[in-house]
Amino acid sequence: MSKFIFVTGGVVSSLGKGIASASIGKLLEARGLKVTMIKCDPYINVDPGTMNPFQHGEVYVTDDGAETDLDLGHYERFTNAKVGRDNNITTGKIYYSVITKERRGDYLGKTVQIIPHITDEIKKDIRKIAHDHDVDVTIVEIGGTVGDIESLPFLEAIRQMRWELGTHYALNIHVTLLPFLKSAGEHKTKPTQHSVGRLREIGIVPDILLCRTEKTITKEQKDKIALFCSVDKEAVIEAIDVKYIYEVPVMFKGEGLDDLILAKLNIRSEDKGLKEWNDVVVKRIKAPSKQVKIAVVGKYITLPDAYKSIYEALMHGGIANDARVVINKVDSEDIEGGDINKFLKDSQGILIPGGFGTRGIEGKIKAVQYARENKIPYFGICLGMQVATIEFARNVCSLKTANSTEFDKETKDPVISLLEEQRHVKNMGATMRLGAYPCKLMKGTNSFSAYKKESISERHRHRYEFNNKYKKEFEKEGMVFSGENTKENLVEIVEIKDHPWFVGCQFHPEFKSKPDRAHPLFAQFIGAALNHKPA
Ligand code: GLN
Repeated sequence: MSKFIFVTGGVVSSLGKGIASASIGKLLEARGLKVTMIKCDPYINVDPGTMNPFQHGEVYVTDDGAETDLDLGHYERFTNAKVGRDNNITTGKIYYSVITKERRGDYLGKTVQIIPHITDEIKKDIRKIAHDHDVDVTIVEIGGTVGDIESLPFLEAIRQMRWELGTHYALNIHVTLLPFLKSAGEHKTKPTQHSVGRLREIGIVPDILLCRTEKTITKEQKDKIALFCSVDKEAVIEAIDVKYIYEVPVMFKGEGLDDLILAKLNIRSEDKGLKEWNDVVVKRIKAPSKQVKIAVVGKYITLPDAYKSIYEALMHGGIANDARVVINKVDSEDIEGGDINKFLKDSQGILIPGGFGTRGIEGKIKAVQYARENKIPYFGICLGMQVATIEFARNVCSLKTANSTEFDKETKDPVISLLEEQRHVKNMGATMRLGAYPCKLMKGTNSFSAYKKESISERHRHRYEFNNKYKKEFEKEGMVFSGENTKENLVEIVEIKDHPWFVGCQFHPEFKSKPDRAHPLFAQFIGAALNHKPA
């Protein structure tokens, strides 16, 4: 039977609870345990698929086609846990299910209430994942900050679970902040005391405190926090700021967090250590021998979370090539009005990520043209692949008004058009072409040499596709269709022959990249970029 770790956060948001949870997962795997991870999100959207990246950050897509919270990306990057649809529980999903049951008559005669019906539904879903994944430990991260009205049903559910499971089967970890006040010259513990106080008011007693801090805390301060928060002295863990997120598991291990968790959960297990992670990931990230400058041209560049997996995968490509990846974030709308040279001239590689809607599209097309003509390695992902074909149509095949029907419904040359299955879609939620689909690679191409195999599977999230009507004409002009879904007859990857490295893929490779196993396309892209010397 799985044991459970519940992770809550207090004082402020953006404390890195997702990274902390993923790092705990990594630590436990290093102790020979099998884990799965769950994110509970207290919003009423059923999933984040209909939210703008400015609202929510990246939407992370799983193999089974769920649009989920970006923390699931951290879980997959740090651990071997295979996460899917069920690993992201939202308020919307829970209510949807309870209300459906109510209409069906499952609760006939009863008043349906938050307690017990909503909380029971949450507990049922959490237990189901633990059971289905057949793991030693299930880590459950509760989104939001303690004190929020929204997250109360989730907190009540985990309170009940802890009570039902008993001490050695469940553990509460609270991530909190210890601000350092310069004027006072010391850390302040009061916000943490208040946060723990709020938790205790609703019946949750933290077993371990992870104290986020900029500066080292002393033994005396830890003891003081322990005393006022009623936790064991050794259970006050310093979570000091580190430069790279992949250092967090190593930092936690240094604090003895794995021993502490195992002791509290009464688990005896081997210790494989984190040597490999340290050697392959942390050391290389901290002191690479080379450096490469990559431009990411998008429209959500002011928000670091909007392209989370892209930035991480670029970093993984850097690790694979022993290079530091310096990312130049370029707003495609700025390119539209300005001198493109100013934004892209020293880039060794240009990447255009996925996206939706017309805003900034012409700037992206200009960036593709710049990469193609100046022979700068280009990596287009989803929308980035689509704009690459639009650019090719307009400037190589002389189809001057070519476009995607997403941006111009009446275009004479719809080189990108709506997928057949999308034509009658009315509901916007979870109706894109989502999740893993197979793709067959053509030998002798960049894609084949990256993957080193013919059959691959990658994750998708799109409604539009390349229009096969234009295939022959494009091929004649030097475009190579190096990856295809042969069953559905869909173009998955395009390349350009007379170019050092120009690859556009309809799928999202960034979701499957890991720090110690860089995605082959990202590794190859960074390799090609390292060979490019800007004029
Ligand atoms: N908007 C495009 C489509 O729906 C691209 C989607 C994406 O980049 N994820 O097909």
